[in-house]
Amino acid sequence: MQGGAKIMSMHMLDKNPALTHGAPVVRGKISPAMEELERLRKEYTITDIEKLVAQGKKAIWGGLSWEAPLIYACDTIPIAFSELWRSESHEAESVAEDYFQIPPEFCSMIKAMIGRLHLRAPDPINKIIYFGACCEPIVNVLELAKADNYDLYCIENTTSFKSEDKRPEVIAFLVKELERIVHWLNEGKPLDEEKLWAEIKRKNLVSQKIRTILDLQVKAPLYLTVLNTAQLLSGSSHYFGQAERYIALLDQLIDELTVAALTPEDRYFVPVVIAGGGGGRGILNAIEESHGAVVGWVAVGTQYYRLDVPPLESIAHYVLDAQSRGELGEGAGTSVSYRKHRVKNLINKTHARGLISSSITGCPYGSVVQKIERDYLQNLGIPIITLERNVHKDPPAEEQVMRIKAFFEMLS
Ligand code: SF4
Repeated sequence: MQGGAKIMSMHMLDKNPALTHGAPVVRGKISPAMEELERLRKEYTITDIEKLVAQGKKAIWGGLSWEAPLIYACDTIPIAFSELWRSESHEAESVAEDYFQIPPEFCSMIKAMIGRLHLRAPDPINKIIYFGACCEPIVNVLELAKADNYDLYCIENTTSFKSEDKRPEVIAFLVKELERIVHWLNEGKPLDEEKLWAEIKRKNLVSQKIRTILDLQVKAPLYLTVLNTAQLLSGSSHYFGQAERYIALLDQLIDELTVAALTPEDRYFVPVVIAGGGGGRGILNAIEESHGAVVGWVAVGTQYYRLDVPPLESIAHYVLDAQSRGELGEGAGTSVSYRKHRVKNLINKTHARGLISSSITGCPYGSVVQKIERDYLQNLGIPIITLERNVHKDPPAEEQVMRIKAFFEMLS
């Protein structure tokens, strides 16, 4: 079993009632960086994006992953698909089941997505982009949105699961696909390469700062709540629509964590790595109530966009490299087999004691990834708990919470 947490003696626990077994871990005090995060989150809503669209700004659904620098360089706001189930997700799911006749046991993410798109029609944000290498059900279901006058753009399926598959002709094919995006979004206007370079460099800068923060978090694991960290990471793709403020926030947080890391943590905690997005607010809270500290997030990639090739090639290399590293998830067409290596490396690097792996109920991709990881980690003697969830904001089932608590008791 892996170690790493500083375990308090029973004497210390007895003396401090706030730290006795079963009490929530006391998290870091309010920090200026987290206050700014809260402000940025409140100011970044779909309503605000809709106002910009009404003023003439372009926006599309999707395009917020590896291709985001290109979308921004085309003066377009990419919107995360997750915005489609942020509210009234049950209503959207009912539309998917009743109107589109999607079976109830199907993945709730897909149902909420197509149901919400239908409810929004006629939608002022009527362009949708997706990668053909992502999960097959999503590709099929998004086709249904055409009937509601959505303009769908599919980046043709391109994969390179081994480095030798990343041949020049594969890169050239993907570059052509990216050029088609420019044509689609810019309506014939050529790509502004300088703008694209600026976006790529900004993304690299943000990635580098996020990595610094996550490294510091291993030394100051209780400074941020698990939920705050998840929110911070989600901002690394859209910057909450305010890149300069987001980057300043990251700098502020690096300063705060650098100071916090100088004092060894003496509160009791159990370090774990999380994969598959964490499982929502209720699950993240249950982790904290069980004295868990997430010291590694598999959601974060480990690479930068290359600066030694033309910018569209740089984007092509980035996604194909991610596929063969098991990073960026199914949206980037990543192989189900490789994430386990990333998990193991992160557990070794952070001295986590186990993995919390969550996926969406009914997701064929997620269930295969979890099965592969379970077998792999169990062979290595690394504990793993696999959780399933849906996209709704409902509190987690009591059984899920009990399983999480039992997992942490086992790790204690
Ligand atoms: S959760 Fe799984 S099935 Fe659902 S959209 Fe994502 S990858 Fe596809």
